[in-house]
Order: sequence, then C-alpha cells, then structure tokens
Amino acid sequence: MSDNRVWSYSAVLMGSPILLKLFSHDEALASRVFSLIKQYEDLFTVNRADSQVMDINHAAGRHPVVVSRPVYELIKCAKAASQLPESAFNLAIGPLVKLWRIGFKGDSVPAADEIAARLRITRPQDVILDDAAASVFLAQPGMEIDLGAIAKGFIADRVRDYLHQQGVSDGLINLGGNVQTLGSPQGGWSIGVKKPFAAADALVGSIEVVNKSVVTSGTYERYFEQDGKLWHHILDPRSGYPLNNELDSVTVISTDSLDGDIWTTLLFGLGVEKGCALLRQRQDIEAIFVSKNREITLSSRRQFRFTPLDASYRLTD
Ligand code: FAD
Ligand code: MG
Ligand code: MG
Repeated sequence: MSDNRVWSYSAVLMGSPILLKLFSHDEALASRVFSLIKQYEDLFTVNRADSQVMDINHAAGRHPVVVSRPVYELIKCAKAASQLPESAFNLAIGPLVKLWRIGFKGDSVPAADEIAARLRITRPQDVILDDAAASVFLAQPGMEIDLGAIAKGFIADRVRDYLHQQGVSDGLINLGGNVQTLGSPQGGWSIGVKKPFAAADALVGSIEVVNKSVVTSGTYERYFEQDGKLWHHILDPRSGYPLNNELDSVTVISTDSLDGDIWTTLLFGLGVEKGCALLRQRQDIEAIFVSKNREITLSSRRQFRFTPLDASYRLTD
C-alpha cells in the first residue's frame, strides 16, 4: 500500500509563488515541471523585452510577426474571449496595464487624458491573426498584448498534461491563483478560498474538488491606495480604470484552468447577478463570488463541495 505522504516543491516564476504537490519524492520531476513553466514564461512574458509576445508588441503598427504554435493558439483564444458580448476581458489591455503599473514600483493614478489616449489603442479587433502563417499583427502603433489574465491558466493545464504523461495520477500545481488538480487523494483536494484583505492564510471557506481547476482573481491580490481609494489590477476595458463593483473576488471551478482564467475576468466584469444568470447556461463552469459586503454566492455546486470557515461571511443562495 502506498503511503499518503505529500511532497511539496516550490519556486518563484512569473513573479508568483509556485507550488507543486506530489505523492512521491521526485525532485527530478519537480525540476522538469518548473523548467516547463519557465519555458512558457519566456514565450509569454511582457515583463522583459525579449519574449515572443514582446516581439509582436515591438512590431505594433509596422508588420506581422510569426510566432510558435502555443503563442498563436493562446492569443487566438484570448482574442475570442475579448470579443464575447459585454466581455471585460481584453487581450490588448497592455498599454493601460503599463500605464497603471499596479503591483510594480511607481504605481499611481494616471491622468484622465492619458487613460483616454491609451483606451484608443486597446481594441481587440485591431489584433490581426493569420491562421495559415501563425502570425499576429497589431494594427495600431503603441498597441500591446498582455496575457497576464490567461497565461497562468494555459500553463497550469500544460503542467497537468505533462504530469499525466509522466504517469502521475494524483498531484496539484498552484501558479499563484491558478490551482490545477489531478486525481482525488483521500476523496478530493481541499482548496482554500482566501479571505480578502486579511492574513495570507485566512480563508472564507474551502472547497473539495476531484480532477478540477480552481482559479481565483481578487482585488486584494495586487493593488495600491491613493486618495483614500483602493486601485487594483483588474482593469475595466471600457473605462480604463480598475473594475469597480460589489466584488472582492471570484473563484471559478472548471476542468481546464484556461477556462477558469477567462471566466474569472468575465464574471468580475458582470458582477454576481448577471454572472449567475449566464452560468445557468453552462454546466461546466461554476463560480464562488465573494462580495465587499461579506456575502458568498455559489452559482451552483455540481463539481465541488463548499465548507464555510468564517462566521462573519454570509452564504446566500
Ligand atoms: P488575473 O485576474 O487573472 O489577471 C489580472 C492581470 O491581467 C493583470 O495583472 C493584467 O496583467 C491583466 N489584465 C488586467 N485587466 C485585464 C482585462 N480587463 N482583460 C485582460 N487582462 C487584464 N509579475 C511580476 O511581478 N514580475 C514578473 O516578472 C512577472 N512575470 C510574469 C510572466 C508571465 C508569463 C505571467 C503570466 C505573469 C507574470 N507576472 C509577473 C504576473 C503578472 O504581472 C500579473 O500580475 C498576473 O498575471 C496576474 O494574474 P492573476 O491570476 O493574479 O490575475
Ligand atoms: Mg489569473
Ligand atoms: Mg484571469
């Protein structure tokens, strides 16, 4: 009989704490997983000048750039998500992310006219794709693709696939907000839902899942305070300012972490009521909304079990 001891391996990649859990002591496998993540980081990052995504950005307004398949496919998927009706997701949000610098040194509220100017170069339809050539062209000078809201989801799914290929049946990868799980040790993986603006280990609840992804996006993850207000990193592509509604966080449960990453942003934009209405048409996507007024709303609970852990939060239904 195999024992149930969990081995944890950690790294810092993509500016985030990365955690891998396995049921065997296998440092070589852990380091192969971390190099796989690093390879994708090197393709997708916009925090350094020399990735494939930055090659596209540097050529904005000038010429198309041929990229590798994973980069092309992820950009295509991100463009489609950006063009859904009422979508808060925008892959061309880069100029605004760079202007706000939220979570990086020197973040402050930009001038309104600068925000307006940058909004004009964030149109998803100006990201021109050519399937045959696998090329991407940004039609306006100054445009920038930013995959910060979707790349971790894509990478978490690749890690899951790689672990499966390596014969691993039970495991977990956490890419700092994107958790992807394999198997069901002791009946399921228990994943915490963080309490906003509290100690790092404080939870409003926990969920149990089997072979599911759990993605959380929160206003409390990256923000700064100015003029008595909190400015966080999920921007409203319509206004150019941080999304401002009743929500502190959204957690999405789905099979693929890619979907989870897209849906957290979509649902953040829609809010609780419209979000729940839309999810009624989707069997495969479920959400946990945590509101500023300390309410927790579950869209449904087909793929997980929820345990409340903080008496100051009220579970609505
Ligand atoms: P999510 O809510 O999933 O996404 C928010 C992020 O998406 C924002 O930070 C912004 O980048 C972008 N965004 C904001 N509004 C929108 C919108 N409306 N539509 C679409 N996208 C939006 N951090 C560092 O500090 N240093 C690094 O070197 C670094 N390198 C990274 C490399 C890669 C490949 C990736 C994927 C991330 C990296 N990061 C780094 C983290 C990055 O800057 C973001 O903070 C992170 O991706 C946010 O992810 P999240 O899951 O916390 O939030
Ligand atoms: Mg994310
Ligand atoms: Mg996201």
